[in-house]
Amino acid sequence: MGRNDKASVGFIGIGTMGREMVRNLLKAGHAVRAFDITSSAVADVVKEGATGAQSPADAARGADIVVTMLPDTPHVEAVIYGEDGLLRSPPPGGIIVDMSTISPVAVRHIHADLKRIDVHFIDAPVSGGPLGAKNAALSIMAGGEAEAFARVEPVFRAMGTTITHVGASGAGQTVKLCNQLVCGINIQAICEALALGRASGVDLDLLRRVLLGGAAASWMLDKLGPAMIAGDTGAGFRIDLMFKDLRLVQELAQTLNVPLPGTALVTSQYVDARAHGEGANGNQALFKVYDRMTNQVTG
Ligand code: NAD
Repeated sequence: MGRNDKASVGFIGIGTMGREMVRNLLKAGHAVRAFDITSSAVADVVKEGATGAQSPADAARGADIVVTMLPDTPHVEAVIYGEDGLLRSPPPGGIIVDMSTISPVAVRHIHADLKRIDVHFIDAPVSGGPLGAKNAALSIMAGGEAEAFARVEPVFRAMGTTITHVGASGAGQTVKLCNQLVCGINIQAICEALALGRASGVDLDLLRRVLLGGAAASWMLDKLGPAMIAGDTGAGFRIDLMFKDLRLVQELAQTLNVPLPGTALVTSQYVDARAHGEGANGNQALFKVYDRMTNQVTG
Protein backbone atom coordinates (compact mmCIF):
# COMPACT_ATOMS: atom_id res chain seq x y z
CA MET A 1 0.00 0.00 0.00
CA GLY A 2 1.34 3.44 -0.90
CA ARG A 3 1.62 6.49 1.34
CA ASN A 4 -1.53 7.73 3.18
CA ASP A 5 -3.31 4.41 2.63
CA LYS A 6 -3.59 5.13 -1.10
CA ALA A 7 -3.45 1.84 -2.98
CA SER A 8 -2.86 0.63 -6.52
CA VAL A 9 -5.94 -1.42 -7.27
CA GLY A 10 -6.47 -3.78 -10.19
CA PHE A 11 -10.24 -3.93 -10.79
CA ILE A 12 -11.85 -6.67 -12.90
CA GLY A 13 -15.55 -6.50 -13.82
CA ILE A 14 -16.76 -3.00 -14.68
CA GLY A 15 -20.52 -3.66 -14.76
CA THR A 16 -23.48 -2.10 -12.95
CA MET A 17 -21.71 -2.28 -9.58
CA GLY A 18 -18.04 -2.29 -10.59
CA ARG A 19 -18.32 0.95 -12.57
CA GLU A 20 -19.57 2.88 -9.51
CA MET A 21 -17.05 1.21 -7.20
CA VAL A 22 -14.18 2.19 -9.51
CA ARG A 23 -15.44 5.78 -9.59
CA ASN A 24 -15.40 5.90 -5.79
CA LEU A 25 -11.92 4.37 -5.60
CA LEU A 26 -10.66 7.07 -7.97
CA LYS A 27 -12.45 9.80 -5.99
CA ALA A 28 -10.76 8.56 -2.80
CA GLY A 29 -7.36 8.89 -4.47
CA HIS A 30 -6.59 5.23 -5.21
CA ALA A 31 -5.03 4.33 -8.57
CA VAL A 32 -7.08 1.84 -10.63
CA ARG A 33 -6.10 -0.48 -13.51
CA ALA A 34 -9.41 -1.71 -14.93
CA PHE A 35 -10.26 -4.79 -16.99
CA ASP A 36 -13.54 -6.11 -18.41
CA ILE A 37 -14.27 -8.36 -21.38
CA THR A 38 -16.47 -5.50 -22.65
CA SER A 39 -13.99 -2.88 -23.80
CA SER A 40 -16.56 -0.04 -23.76
CA ALA A 41 -17.00 -0.62 -19.99
CA VAL A 42 -13.25 -0.10 -19.52
CA ALA A 43 -13.30 2.99 -21.79
CA ASP A 44 -15.98 4.58 -19.57
CA VAL A 45 -13.83 4.44 -16.42
CA VAL A 46 -10.64 5.38 -18.30
CA LYS A 47 -12.39 8.69 -19.07
CA GLU A 48 -12.66 9.18 -15.31
CA GLY A 49 -9.01 8.53 -14.53
CA ALA A 50 -8.56 4.74 -14.47
CA THR A 51 -5.90 3.02 -16.58
CA GLY A 52 -7.22 0.42 -19.03
CA ALA A 53 -5.86 -3.14 -18.82
CA GLN A 54 -5.86 -5.87 -21.49
CA SER A 55 -6.30 -8.95 -19.26
CA PRO A 56 -6.65 -9.96 -15.59
CA ALA A 57 -2.85 -10.37 -15.41
CA ASP A 58 -2.39 -6.88 -16.87
CA ALA A 59 -4.84 -5.41 -14.31
CA ALA A 60 -2.77 -7.04 -11.54
CA ARG A 61 0.50 -5.48 -12.77
CA GLY A 62 2.03 -3.40 -9.95
CA ALA A 63 -1.17 -3.72 -7.86
CA ASP A 64 -1.34 -3.85 -4.06
CA ILE A 65 -4.76 -5.45 -4.35
CA VAL A 66 -6.89 -6.90 -7.13
CA VAL A 67 -10.67 -6.62 -6.78
CA THR A 68 -13.06 -8.74 -8.85
CA MET A 69 -16.74 -7.81 -9.32
CA LEU A 70 -18.13 -10.43 -11.70
CA PRO A 71 -21.52 -12.11 -12.26
CA ASP A 72 -21.03 -15.65 -10.89
CA THR A 73 -18.61 -18.37 -9.74
CA PRO A 74 -17.46 -19.50 -13.25
CA HIS A 75 -16.49 -15.91 -14.17
CA VAL A 76 -14.38 -15.54 -11.03
CA GLU A 77 -12.78 -18.94 -11.67
CA ALA A 78 -11.98 -17.92 -15.27
CA VAL A 79 -10.25 -14.75 -14.05
CA ILE A 80 -8.25 -16.68 -11.44
CA TYR A 81 -7.40 -19.91 -13.29
CA GLY A 82 -7.71 -18.94 -16.96
CA GLU A 83 -5.11 -17.93 -19.48
CA ASP A 84 -3.62 -14.60 -18.38
CA GLY A 85 -5.33 -15.23 -15.04
CA LEU A 86 -4.42 -14.16 -11.52
CA LEU A 87 -3.10 -17.53 -10.32
CA ARG A 88 -0.19 -17.22 -12.74
CA SER A 89 0.23 -13.45 -12.39
CA PRO A 90 -0.90 -12.43 -8.91
CA PRO A 91 -0.69 -8.82 -7.74
CA PRO A 92 2.68 -8.01 -6.13
CA GLY A 93 0.79 -6.86 -2.99
CA GLY A 94 -0.39 -10.45 -2.55
CA ILE A 95 -4.12 -9.84 -1.99
CA ILE A 96 -7.09 -10.69 -4.23
CA VAL A 97 -10.54 -9.60 -3.07
CA ASP A 98 -13.65 -10.98 -4.72
CA MET A 99 -16.66 -8.73 -4.12
CA SER A 100 -19.07 -10.66 -6.38
CA THR A 101 -21.69 -13.00 -4.91
CA ILE A 102 -20.42 -16.53 -5.58
CA SER A 103 -20.37 -20.01 -4.01
CA PRO A 104 -18.75 -20.14 -0.54
CA VAL A 105 -17.55 -23.66 -1.38
CA ALA A 106 -15.72 -22.37 -4.49
CA VAL A 107 -14.31 -19.51 -2.38
CA ARG A 108 -12.65 -21.96 -0.01
CA HIS A 109 -11.08 -23.87 -2.94
CA ILE A 110 -9.73 -20.68 -4.50
CA HIS A 111 -8.48 -19.55 -1.09
CA ALA A 112 -6.53 -22.82 -0.66
CA ASP A 113 -5.08 -22.68 -4.20
CA LEU A 114 -3.90 -19.09 -3.75
CA LYS A 115 -2.51 -19.76 -0.29
CA ARG A 116 -0.05 -22.21 -1.90
CA ILE A 117 1.51 -19.26 -3.73
CA ASP A 118 1.33 -16.96 -0.67
CA VAL A 119 -1.57 -14.90 -1.96
CA HIS A 120 -4.48 -13.98 0.34
CA PHE A 121 -8.00 -14.39 -1.02
CA ILE A 122 -10.71 -12.36 0.72
CA ASP A 123 -14.39 -12.94 -0.09
CA ALA A 124 -16.12 -9.59 0.39
CA PRO A 125 -19.59 -9.54 -1.19
CA VAL A 126 -21.71 -6.43 -0.86
CA SER A 127 -25.26 -5.33 -0.20
CA GLY A 128 -26.84 -1.99 -1.09
CA GLY A 129 -27.40 -2.23 -4.85
CA PRO A 130 -26.30 0.19 -7.57
CA LEU A 131 -27.39 3.17 -5.43
CA GLY A 132 -25.29 1.99 -2.49
CA ALA A 133 -22.38 1.49 -4.92
CA LYS A 134 -22.85 4.98 -6.38
CA ASN A 135 -23.04 6.64 -2.94
CA ALA A 136 -20.07 4.65 -1.54
CA ALA A 137 -22.56 3.32 1.02
CA LEU A 138 -22.27 -0.43 0.47
CA SER A 139 -22.40 -2.93 3.29
CA ILE A 140 -19.32 -5.12 2.85
CA MET A 141 -19.08 -8.52 4.60
CA ALA A 142 -15.64 -10.07 4.42
CA GLY A 143 -14.22 -13.54 5.05
CA GLY A 144 -10.55 -14.50 5.22
CA GLU A 145 -7.45 -13.78 7.30
CA ALA A 146 -7.81 -10.82 9.70
CA GLU A 147 -4.38 -9.49 8.75
CA ALA A 148 -5.25 -9.34 5.03
CA PHE A 149 -8.64 -7.82 5.87
CA ALA A 150 -6.91 -5.04 7.84
CA ARG A 151 -4.71 -4.27 4.82
CA VAL A 152 -7.67 -3.89 2.45
CA GLU A 153 -9.94 -2.01 4.86
CA PRO A 154 -8.85 1.46 3.59
CA VAL A 155 -9.86 0.38 0.09
CA PHE A 156 -13.22 -0.93 1.35
CA ARG A 157 -13.80 2.44 3.07
CA ALA A 158 -13.81 4.15 -0.35
CA MET A 159 -16.75 1.97 -1.42
CA GLY A 160 -18.82 1.25 1.68
CA THR A 161 -19.96 2.42 5.08
CA THR A 162 -20.67 -0.82 6.99
CA ILE A 163 -17.55 -2.93 6.71
CA THR A 164 -17.39 -6.11 8.76
CA HIS A 165 -14.92 -8.97 9.00
CA VAL A 166 -17.34 -11.84 9.57
CA GLY A 167 -14.94 -14.80 9.84
CA ALA A 168 -12.73 -17.22 7.93
CA SER A 169 -12.67 -17.77 4.16
CA GLY A 170 -16.20 -18.23 2.77
CA ALA A 171 -17.93 -16.57 5.75
CA GLY A 172 -18.48 -13.35 3.78
CA GLN A 173 -20.38 -15.26 1.08
CA THR A 174 -22.35 -17.23 3.68
CA VAL A 175 -23.54 -14.01 5.36
CA LYS A 176 -24.35 -12.52 1.95
CA LEU A 177 -26.43 -15.59 1.05
CA CYS A 178 -28.36 -15.21 4.33
CA ASN A 179 -28.91 -11.57 3.29
CA GLN A 180 -30.24 -12.66 -0.12
CA LEU A 181 -32.57 -15.23 1.40
CA VAL A 182 -34.14 -12.49 3.52
CA CYS A 183 -34.32 -10.10 0.53
CA GLY A 184 -35.94 -12.69 -1.75
CA ILE A 185 -38.61 -13.76 0.72
CA ASN A 186 -39.20 -10.11 1.61
CA ILE A 187 -39.80 -9.14 -2.03
CA GLN A 188 -42.28 -11.99 -2.26
CA ALA A 189 -44.09 -10.79 0.88
CA ILE A 190 -44.36 -7.29 -0.62
CA CYS A 191 -45.69 -8.71 -3.91
CA GLU A 192 -48.39 -10.58 -1.96
CA ALA A 193 -49.39 -7.51 0.07
CA LEU A 194 -49.58 -5.34 -3.07
CA ALA A 195 -51.57 -8.01 -4.96
CA LEU A 196 -54.04 -8.28 -2.10
CA GLY A 197 -54.28 -4.52 -1.62
CA ARG A 198 -54.80 -3.97 -5.36
CA ALA A 199 -57.53 -6.60 -5.60
CA SER A 200 -59.27 -4.91 -2.63
CA GLY A 201 -59.12 -1.50 -4.30
CA VAL A 202 -56.79 0.04 -1.71
CA ASP A 203 -54.51 2.93 -2.76
CA LEU A 204 -51.14 1.18 -3.06
CA ASP A 205 -49.01 4.29 -2.42
CA LEU A 206 -50.93 4.82 0.80
CA LEU A 207 -50.63 1.14 1.69
CA ARG A 208 -46.85 1.32 1.23
CA ARG A 209 -46.52 4.47 3.31
CA VAL A 210 -48.53 2.97 6.18
CA LEU A 211 -46.52 -0.28 6.13
CA LEU A 212 -43.27 1.71 6.19
CA GLY A 213 -44.41 3.27 9.45
CA GLY A 214 -44.84 -0.04 11.25
CA ALA A 215 -43.41 -3.51 11.81
CA ALA A 216 -43.72 -4.42 8.10
CA ALA A 217 -41.19 -1.74 7.07
CA SER A 218 -38.23 -2.97 5.05
CA TRP A 219 -35.48 -1.79 2.71
CA MET A 220 -37.23 -3.59 -0.18
CA LEU A 221 -40.58 -1.91 0.50
CA ASP A 222 -38.87 1.47 0.85
CA LYS A 223 -36.54 1.30 -2.17
CA LEU A 224 -38.34 -1.06 -4.60
CA GLY A 225 -41.97 -0.46 -3.56
CA PRO A 226 -42.50 2.65 -5.75
CA ALA A 227 -41.24 0.85 -8.88
CA MET A 228 -43.37 -2.21 -8.06
CA ILE A 229 -46.49 -0.06 -7.73
CA ALA A 230 -45.68 1.89 -10.92
CA GLY A 231 -45.01 -1.32 -12.91
CA ASP A 232 -41.48 -0.05 -13.64
CA THR A 233 -39.45 -3.11 -14.61
CA GLY A 234 -36.21 -1.19 -15.31
CA ALA A 235 -32.79 -2.55 -14.55
CA GLY A 236 -31.11 -2.51 -11.16
CA PHE A 237 -30.37 -5.77 -9.44
CA ARG A 238 -31.43 -8.18 -12.17
CA ILE A 239 -33.93 -11.05 -11.69
CA ASP A 240 -31.22 -13.31 -13.21
CA LEU A 241 -28.71 -12.33 -10.50
CA MET A 242 -31.18 -12.89 -7.65
CA PHE A 243 -32.10 -16.28 -9.15
CA LYS A 244 -28.37 -17.09 -9.14
CA ASP A 245 -28.11 -16.04 -5.49
CA LEU A 246 -31.13 -18.15 -4.47
CA ARG A 247 -29.53 -21.11 -6.26
CA LEU A 248 -26.33 -20.54 -4.26
CA VAL A 249 -28.41 -20.35 -1.04
CA GLN A 250 -30.03 -23.69 -1.82
CA GLU A 251 -26.74 -25.36 -2.80
CA LEU A 252 -25.20 -24.31 0.52
CA ALA A 253 -28.28 -25.38 2.47
CA GLN A 254 -28.24 -28.81 0.82
CA THR A 255 -24.59 -29.42 1.76
CA LEU A 256 -25.52 -28.61 5.38
CA ASN A 257 -28.90 -30.43 5.46
CA VAL A 258 -30.80 -27.25 6.29
CA PRO A 259 -34.34 -27.18 4.86
CA LEU A 260 -35.34 -23.77 3.43
CA PRO A 261 -38.98 -24.09 2.29
CA GLY A 262 -39.50 -20.32 2.01
CA THR A 263 -36.49 -19.97 -0.29
CA ALA A 264 -37.72 -22.89 -2.42
CA LEU A 265 -41.11 -21.22 -2.87
CA VAL A 266 -39.80 -17.82 -3.92
CA THR A 267 -37.21 -19.47 -6.20
CA SER A 268 -40.06 -21.08 -8.16
CA GLN A 269 -41.45 -17.59 -8.81
CA TYR A 270 -38.06 -16.46 -10.12
CA VAL A 271 -38.19 -19.50 -12.43
CA ASP A 272 -41.59 -18.29 -13.65
CA ALA A 273 -40.25 -14.75 -14.27
CA ARG A 274 -37.27 -16.10 -16.24
CA ALA A 275 -39.53 -18.44 -18.24
CA HIS A 276 -41.47 -15.34 -19.30
CA GLY A 277 -38.26 -13.69 -20.55
CA GLU A 278 -38.04 -11.30 -17.58
CA GLY A 279 -34.55 -12.20 -16.32
CA ALA A 280 -33.01 -8.87 -17.32
CA ASN A 281 -35.65 -6.88 -15.42
CA GLY A 282 -34.91 -5.45 -12.00
CA ASN A 283 -36.03 -7.47 -8.97
CA GLN A 284 -39.05 -5.28 -8.34
CA ALA A 285 -40.49 -6.87 -11.51
CA LEU A 286 -41.16 -10.11 -9.60
CA PHE A 287 -44.54 -8.40 -9.15
CA LYS A 288 -45.29 -9.31 -12.79
CA VAL A 289 -45.59 -12.94 -11.63
CA TYR A 290 -48.41 -11.74 -9.35
CA ASP A 291 -49.92 -9.71 -12.21
CA ARG A 292 -50.24 -12.99 -14.09
CA MET A 293 -51.57 -14.95 -11.11
CA THR A 294 -54.23 -12.29 -10.49
CA ASN A 295 -55.00 -11.87 -14.20
CA GLN A 296 -53.95 -8.23 -14.39
CA VAL A 297 -53.16 -6.90 -17.86
CA THR A 298 -49.51 -5.83 -17.96
CA GLY A 299 -47.39 -3.93 -20.45
P1 NAD B 1 -22.96 -6.96 -14.22
O1 NAD B 1 -23.36 -8.12 -15.05
O2 NAD B 1 -23.59 -5.63 -14.47
O3 NAD B 1 -21.36 -6.74 -14.33
C1 NAD B 1 -20.45 -7.79 -14.41
C2 NAD B 1 -19.32 -7.37 -15.34
O4 NAD B 1 -18.36 -8.45 -15.40
C3 NAD B 1 -19.76 -7.10 -16.78
O5 NAD B 1 -19.30 -5.82 -17.19
C4 NAD B 1 -19.10 -8.22 -17.59
O6 NAD B 1 -18.71 -7.82 -18.90
C5 NAD B 1 -17.88 -8.52 -16.73
N1 NAD B 1 -17.31 -9.84 -16.96
C6 NAD B 1 -17.94 -11.04 -17.09
N2 NAD B 1 -17.04 -12.03 -17.24
C7 NAD B 1 -15.81 -11.45 -17.21
C8 NAD B 1 -14.48 -11.94 -17.32
N3 NAD B 1 -14.24 -13.25 -17.50
N4 NAD B 1 -13.46 -11.07 -17.25
C9 NAD B 1 -13.70 -9.74 -17.06
N5 NAD B 1 -14.94 -9.21 -16.97
C10 NAD B 1 -15.97 -10.05 -17.04
O7 NAD B 1 -23.18 -7.41 -12.71
P2 NAD B 1 -23.34 -6.48 -11.41
O8 NAD B 1 -24.76 -6.10 -11.25
O9 NAD B 1 -22.30 -5.42 -11.44
O10 NAD B 1 -23.03 -7.56 -10.27
C11 NAD B 1 -21.73 -8.05 -10.05
C12 NAD B 1 -21.76 -8.97 -8.84
O11 NAD B 1 -22.22 -8.24 -7.68
C13 NAD B 1 -22.71 -10.18 -8.97
O12 NAD B 1 -22.15 -11.31 -8.36
C14 NAD B 1 -23.95 -9.72 -8.23
O13 NAD B 1 -24.70 -10.81 -7.73
C15 NAD B 1 -23.35 -8.87 -7.12
N6 NAD B 1 -24.23 -7.82 -6.62
C16 NAD B 1 -24.96 -7.05 -7.48
C17 NAD B 1 -25.80 -6.06 -6.98
C18 NAD B 1 -26.67 -5.21 -7.89
O14 NAD B 1 -27.60 -4.57 -7.37
N7 NAD B 1 -26.42 -5.17 -9.20
C19 NAD B 1 -25.90 -5.86 -5.59
C20 NAD B 1 -25.09 -6.63 -4.74
C21 NAD B 1 -24.28 -7.61 -5.27
